[in-house]
Amino acid sequence: RRAAARVTAALDATAAVIDAHVDELGRIDAVAGDGDHGIGMQRGATAAAVAARDAHDAGAGAGTVLVRAADAWSDRAGGTSGALWGVMLRALGTRIGDEVAPDAATLALGAREALDGIRAYGKAEVGDKTMVDAIVPFVEVLETRVAAGDELADAWDAASAAATEAAAATAELLPRMGRARPHAERSLGTPDAGAHSFGLVVTAAAAALS
Ligand code: ADP
Ligand code: MG
Ligand code: MG
Repeated sequence: RRAAARVTAALDATAAVIDAHVDELGRIDAVAGDGDHGIGMQRGATAAAVAARDAHDAGAGAGTVLVRAADAWSDRAGGTSGALWGVMLRALGTRIGDEVAPDAATLALGAREALDGIRAYGKAEVGDKTMVDAIVPFVEVLETRVAAGDELADAWDAASAAATEAAAATAELLPRMGRARPHAERSLGTPDAGAHSFGLVVTAAAAALS
């Protein structure tokens, strides 16, 4: 399949997994934050999937599909995570561009640039109990596996497993960024909402990429 069809399918899978976990994400965010992470992710991911489908049907390449999805996500989601998902998808789409078959190394570079964009925008570092705690191991494992010559699907699976594990491990951390910070000690024992949803999304997107 063309890259544009793959990324469109990945965004459909993203919207579907968020729909299936919307209440869980809200409950996690409510422990120390404001409880809107499920609904915000649902609004953003749904708008992104619709925008991606429209762009794909109009003949756009993968990069354009991702940039349209990014704009729709940040416009419609509201909240910190919506802006950050917009930053991530825009960086990825800009790097991948509209070639029919971008290689795995280009995708890994796009993932690295998406992480750089998140850090520049949100200023969180590893250990602050944010989605950055899941994105950093995802990008590092993806880069390592792709550089070692793994197929993209295998590299993505390994990276998704690392993100899921790191997201769960944020339960032991105290938040140093975002709305959870004033109620930091309440969040002990609960993972960060944005790290958890990142793990869900990359795991769900995997099937669409191969
Ligand atoms: P809001 O905090 O505006 O209500 P959400 O509930 O949708 O937005 O998203 C909260 C998530 O956003 C957090 O769980 C965390 O993962 C992420 N987040 C918050 N602030 C930052 C930041 N400065 N950098 C990176 N991620 C952040
Ligand atoms: Mg919130
Ligand atoms: Mg909010």
